[in-house]
Amino acid sequence: RTTRVSREGGVLKVDQAAGEGGVLGRAGRRGEKGTGPGIHCAACLQVHPTSTRFTFRTARQVPRLGVMLVGWGGNNGSTLTAAVLANRLRLSWPTRSGRKEANYYGSLTQAGTVSLGLDAEGQEVFVPFSALLPMVAPNDLVFDGWDISSLNLAEAMRRAKVLDWGLQEQLWPHMEALRPRPSVYIPEFIAANQSARADNLIPGSRAQQLEQIRRDIRDFRSSAGLDKVIVLWTANTERFCEVIPGLNDTAENLLRTIELGLEVSPSTLFAVASILEGCAFLNGSPQNTLVPGALELAWQHRVFVGGDDFKSGQTKVKSVLVDFLIGSGLKTMSIVSYNHLGNNDGENLSAPLQFRSKEVSKSNVVDDMVQSNPVLYTPGEEPDHCVVIKYVPYVGDSKRALDEYTSELMLGGTNTLVLHNTCEDSLLAAPIMLDLALLTELCQRVSFCTDMDPEPQTFHPVLSLLSFLFKAPLVPPGSPVVNALFRQRSCIENILRACVGLPPQNHMLLEHKME
Ligand code: NAD
Repeated sequence: RTTRVSREGGVLKVDQAAGEGGVLGRAGRRGEKGTGPGIHCAACLQVHPTSTRFTFRTARQVPRLGVMLVGWGGNNGSTLTAAVLANRLRLSWPTRSGRKEANYYGSLTQAGTVSLGLDAEGQEVFVPFSALLPMVAPNDLVFDGWDISSLNLAEAMRRAKVLDWGLQEQLWPHMEALRPRPSVYIPEFIAANQSARADNLIPGSRAQQLEQIRRDIRDFRSSAGLDKVIVLWTANTERFCEVIPGLNDTAENLLRTIELGLEVSPSTLFAVASILEGCAFLNGSPQNTLVPGALELAWQHRVFVGGDDFKSGQTKVKSVLVDFLIGSGLKTMSIVSYNHLGNNDGENLSAPLQFRSKEVSKSNVVDDMVQSNPVLYTPGEEPDHCVVIKYVPYVGDSKRALDEYTSELMLGGTNTLVLHNTCEDSLLAAPIMLDLALLTELCQRVSFCTDMDPEPQTFHPVLSLLSFLFKAPLVPPGSPVVNALFRQRSCIENILRACVGLPPQNHMLLEHKME
């Protein structure tokens, strides 16, 4: 069997021609969202490197950007708003361990760095991620949003119990005037235990609600004098909605479903409104908001969509640790992830259907790493993977995550790793939300062409570059899903490097391997 391996834009493409023998497996579809890797015996592959020249162009004018949060009055929404205000106002406050100052720790763009290369002395030169290309400064973001709960943002911050009191007191006058717009509440999509906070609702039919959301976006854009608006879902986790032919499988059917008042989830309604208004829509929760009809609509309107489910704590560690274990040749056979948390997200997730959405989102995150190693895993073999989430009100936003990873060593040995992580959930999620908005906006200004196809094009509307920030990354049909964290980070870093004409970072450091 002969196999042509070609390189397109830095991606190796394996293309098999008919032939005899020696191939251990074949490239094909694996899983729902992407194509599995080809499994081959290296001895029977022929590799023909080819190269394609890409020309990138980035508009340098940074717009005035507005971010609309669905679920603005929740822990994440109020914490992100507070974080930006605290940084803009350069606030500091006393704590029992000394004075703390506002910062953006946890944000890839604001607190991460990129190596540019080696200087004349052979030492690496690092610059802040945000300095590579013109990006919106987080302190300049303007926030607005919706919530089914009418509390203003100051009261929402107090309800969230995330921030130190000294910081809350200083932020109070700045947050008091911020009030979420009424939203769409369809009780069966979120847990019944949420009904008490639903006092801020858009009345009318689904079509009228869609129109109201669209009016809200237009109103925010004009009243705040914005160039662009991005919509981000950070409201409660919903149950999955069924993908049904004729209902939500195409853009046309989805729009008709809304017109007729048939079943559509609130998050999908927001996605449709954003797309119709030309605003990127990002889904920070695990449910399948971006049903095929919504994806087709995004494609038709050339609007970016991204999802699903912020990758903040436990999954982030998992996508590093399993990459490390399998990448080192250890055969991970069991992953058990237990969480307890006491915030409103935890209460919502204590209902079976909402937990199910989260369980699915958390369960597929090692697939690519397992499939990458046919030496360890036979086709179809995968580790046991169990996810448990419990609601314990007392711990509030301070989520506990306990994980156990069991791997097989050589000669019958076993390696068991146990991790215990405690931290404020929303302080992990807020900087990720920030990065999502800033990177999506940057991507809207990037276009590229190749020598073969000189017509400038933008990224595919399903913005897979954001995979680093999502637990269950959405990718264009047929694209491989990458969960491994450092591959995801390299994707962002290398595309940003390409935009300024730098080659991909290859970590060979050949300069230091010569005599
Ligand atoms: P939260 O419960 O504190 O906030 C959600 C807010 O959404 C609430 O204020 C609620 O009133 C509001 N809401 C519910 N339905 C709504 C609707 N239809 N329209 C408008 N508002 C609505 O939760 P949170 O801790 O802020 O988390 C938000 C989401 O992010 C959850 O789905 C959670 O699973 C997801 N998430 C959080 C993290 C994290 O680390 N914090 C990580 C990954 C995903």
